[in-house]
Amino acid sequence: MKRLEDSIKTIKGIGDKLSKLYEKLSVYSLWDLLFYYPRTYFEFPEELCDCSDCLDGDLVALEINVHEIPKTKKTKRMEITTLNAFCGEVPIQFIWFRSPYIKSQIKLHETYIFYGVLKSDGPIRKKMEQPVLYTKDKYDYERSSLQPVYSLTKGLTNNQLKKNLHGVLDEIQLEEYLPKDMISKRNLESFSHSMKQIHFPDSFEELKKARRRLVYDEFLTFFIQMEQVKEQEEAVSNHFHFPHMDRYNFCLERLPFELTKGQKSCLDEIISDFQGDYISQRLIQGDVGSGKTIIAFLLMTLVVENGYQAAIMAPTEILARQHYETFCQYVKDFDLPFEVLFLTGSFTAKQKREVYEAMAKETPCYIIGTNALIQEKANYDNLALVITDEQHRFGVKQRETFRKKGNMPFTLVMSATPIPRTLSMILYGDMNISVISDVPAKRLPIKNAVIKPKEVKTAYEFIYKQVKSGRQAYVICPLVEASEKTESENVLDYGKKLREFYKGSISVDVLHGRMSAEEKKKVMEDFLAKKTDVLVSTTVVEVGVNVPNATVMLIENANRFGLAQLHQLRGRVGRGEWQSYCMFVDSGKEEKNKRLEVISSSNDGFFVASEDLKLRGPGDFYGIRQSGEFDFTLADIYQDGELMKEASCDAKELLALDKDFSMEEHKPLKEFLTQQHNHQYTAL
Ligand code: ADP
Ligand code: MG
Repeated sequence: MKRLEDSIKTIKGIGDKLSKLYEKLSVYSLWDLLFYYPRTYFEFPEELCDCSDCLDGDLVALEINVHEIPKTKKTKRMEITTLNAFCGEVPIQFIWFRSPYIKSQIKLHETYIFYGVLKSDGPIRKKMEQPVLYTKDKYDYERSSLQPVYSLTKGLTNNQLKKNLHGVLDEIQLEEYLPKDMISKRNLESFSHSMKQIHFPDSFEELKKARRRLVYDEFLTFFIQMEQVKEQEEAVSNHFHFPHMDRYNFCLERLPFELTKGQKSCLDEIISDFQGDYISQRLIQGDVGSGKTIIAFLLMTLVVENGYQAAIMAPTEILARQHYETFCQYVKDFDLPFEVLFLTGSFTAKQKREVYEAMAKETPCYIIGTNALIQEKANYDNLALVITDEQHRFGVKQRETFRKKGNMPFTLVMSATPIPRTLSMILYGDMNISVISDVPAKRLPIKNAVIKPKEVKTAYEFIYKQVKSGRQAYVICPLVEASEKTESENVLDYGKKLREFYKGSISVDVLHGRMSAEEKKKVMEDFLAKKTDVLVSTTVVEVGVNVPNATVMLIENANRFGLAQLHQLRGRVGRGEWQSYCMFVDSGKEEKNKRLEVISSSNDGFFVASEDLKLRGPGDFYGIRQSGEFDFTLADIYQDGELMKEASCDAKELLALDKDFSMEEHKPLKEFLTQQHNHQYTAL
């Protein structure tokens, strides 16, 4: 019998080549594959269509009896296979590119379903390119179910994923791990049924039930972990001393701006924590652009001037490097006699060792890095403060590991995610919470616009004008490179297109996650140094990037992004003294996109989040992962708020009853948690 931790190579049909592709999706084990949930589901149109009442561009399924054999023609570039037929009275041609094998799948005088986008081909005739072909039985079967749609990588098809998932689900026995009474109390589906249904739902109802179970599990395991952490912890008395504040005050007086009220009270709260009797943990919640970095810097300065080390961890290399550069600049500006250490995963072993050695020397300093800061080899002995920036990008375990470094330091986590206080109190357990509810006064609100693809040239001209007046711009595309699956814009081609458009009058550069750390660094440096005017990028700039001179953002295929993500992206502009603009390109078919109306009507993260919830409605959970909160893949803290509260109670109850899962009925759950834990660490 196979086990969940077995490599995916143990599945029939997955060899070296395929497993390499899966690696790109971070799928290594059967566990990974099972938890690689569909991105969305696809429903076949219920009814078969008649050509006469279809519109151009409709995605339709046609039932056709074949009276002719398909023909294949070789052109210089490729082989084209065509089939002429009638749909009722209407003549139609089906066209396939590079697919001569289709001939062998079509038998004369048989009836098939052709599924694809219908287009006009002259006044009467219709055509359909690259239709998907089904036998009638197959179609009826597929139509009765929802089809999973997975996020893919080049070379890996949706069908391949489906096949491999069937392979796993057939060969593995998924044992139930939740205690029986919990299942009945909360009326949950079984684990194995839910896992099957989340990938291959028999109906929308089944899918909803499956999702509910898996969401519950995500919450439950999250809260168990959290409670266990709390449990292990006794109040640690504050063994640090912070008598000196000269440097801190010196910086404070010389800041180039006045701190906002929110920033000031946040500093006060944390400094009184520092002076308190116990070590504390605090969440700093403030919308994008509310100025959290300077808070981190000031507090770290206070810690460092009192003879300790202070560390800040960021989720991406780009952001970590940006913090490093900002800190170095401040250290220079304020004439501080302290070193700034920097560490990321892309360093060579030798570079890393040097940083580790410097850290171990216990000299007071600032330490900045990515999750390389929490690797085993990173040891700190003199650490009094750890800060996790953009905490929602890290797992609880990672945050905990960071907190456990050193000798019980003070902990701050910073977040731009707008969560109602009642929910954050559950999600953050016993953490204290500080909210920065205002943004710097001088800043002008961002002006937003939703535009259609045909208006995008106007946007290019607008960008040109902004650049000529000294500003810079971001253009965001969903993809890195062209994909056969969607017509969404990609960074590489878009970069070329813009360069052609501007003909060298302004400079254009590209940035995406597949570039090496070195390349990314260079691109960001050039952009920051104003060597580049327009940066075409994927969402890698989403978190935390701060280039105040950039005042325009153009988001291509904005309708494809979630609201939370759009809000984060937009937060990259409106960070300086100039008027900023954000343009959302709506490439959707509908006249108006409700989500884009929401985002363009307000710059307030709280408002956007609450409208997001209303728009989604209870039954609708496609695309939720875009809001990507915490460790959750399916769960959504807004939509599933009730289930979250229930799971939080259940976790507490369970641990009160059986703290270390020693009861027989809790053993499977214990094992599941261990596997999940190991999994999180391999993913790290
Ligand atoms: P976030 O909260 O999104 O992390 P940052 O810390 O990156 O925001 O700050 C955004 C920009 O605002 C930075 O350029 C920062 O220097 C500036 N800033 C921070 N606080 C203030 C303030 N009180 N007044 C004016 N500008 C500020
Ligand atoms: Mg930030």
